[in-house]
Amino acid sequence: MSIYHDEVEIEDFEYDEDEEMYYYPCPCGDRFEISLEALQAGEEEATCPSCSLLLKVIYDKDDFLADEEKAIKGEKSVSKNL
Ligand SMILES: [Zn+2]
Repeated sequence: MSIYHDEVEIEDFEYDEDEEMYYYPCPCGDRFEISLEALQAGEEEATCPSCSLLLKVIYDKDDFLADEEKAIKGEKSVSKNL
């Protein structure tokens, strides 16, 4: 089991649209980071590249599921039936 330094809501993270990454200040002076892709995949662990601290991200997974992904999942279940 992971031990988290803290739990932070995704609203409190800073979002970089170009990199599609969420950032939150780390006590070591660097920043915790988690990608949009990771959030869409259900990940909830933000890591700091400069130290070993972990942050638990509080968010509603449904808000990050892209419509596109839902469509792909739908197609997969259809092809299974064929
Ligand atoms: Zn750090």
